[in-house]
Amino acid sequence: MALNHAKVTGILKEGNTVSGVKVQDMLTGKEYEIKSRMVVNAAGHWMDAVCGMMYGQPKRMVRRTKGVHLLTPRLSNNALVLYAKSDGRLWFVIPAGKYSLVGTTDTDYKGDLEAVYAEKADVDYLMQEVQKVFPNLETKDIYYTYAGLRSLPDSGDEKPGNVSRAHKTIDHEKLDGVKGFISVLGGKITGARGISEEITDLVCKKLDIKTKCKTATTPLPGAPIVDQGRIIKICRRDKN
Ligand SMILES: Cc1cc2nc3c(=O)[nH]c(=O)nc-3n(C[C@H](O)[C@H](O)[C@H](O)COP(=O)(O)OP(=O)(O)OC[C@H]3O[C@@H](n4cnc5c(N)ncnc54)[C@H](O)[C@@H]3O)c2cc1C
Repeated sequence: MALNHAKVTGILKEGNTVSGVKVQDMLTGKEYEIKSRMVVNAAGHWMDAVCGMMYGQPKRMVRRTKGVHLLTPRLSNNALVLYAKSDGRLWFVIPAGKYSLVGTTDTDYKGDLEAVYAEKADVDYLMQEVQKVFPNLETKDIYYTYAGLRSLPDSGDEKPGNVSRAHKTIDHEKLDGVKGFISVLGGKITGARGISEEITDLVCKKLDIKTKCKTATTPLPGAPIVDQGRIIKICRRDKN
């Protein structure tokens, strides 16, 4: 069963074992308790807050970095990958309809999670690089900007761009003895099904369920069934 518009407001615990979640239906305001043998915390930027509900105090595991994009008039008909002269970072210009999408930045973010936007410094950083390649583009030509946050495993004090983009699975039973609670953070949309498979297999193992996750070979709803042999053949052809 899936429940949309439902906010987790608390974690149910019996001793050192998580036994479900408290949720609030954001459409009706009603609150419910949902019992379960396993809870997976995939709350992205809010992961620390959900962990905090379980531990009763904040737990810092996530490092957030901001990425800003600009939408500009069409700069190139090809996708371009470039390296910033100021700091050597990779950036790109890709066609987006009639326009170009320029991105991105990668800076630590400690502000309001509900109000992430491109600041002047973000736009200036990108424009400084863009104008080295496309000197005619001016800041006033930008149609709009948008910003997002990357939630990355907090691995210390390296530069934001050096923090691993690989996902991290945290079994809280191994971490500090809390049973029935798994957190997953980081990762990419492109790897989402692989990450889901890993988590599903871990949950099944913990619940002593012997079935293996079938994500890798199950088409998404509406997707055509494609023969795996054919995909391998096409990939090999593209390599040569
Ligand atoms: C600038 C930028 C560029 C990127 N480029 C790429 C790319 O090219 N390719 C790629 O694959 N990935 C890219 N990513 C990464 C990708 O966007 C993320 O990895 C992905 O969105 C993470 O998904 P998620 O489901 O883990 O987290 P989120 O998308 O953050 O989802 C977390 C969800 O948890 C919910 N939630 C939080 N708290 C609660 C609560 N208490 N109760 C109930 N629900 C709650 C939130 O509402 C949210 O829906 C990029 C990210 C950024 C910022």
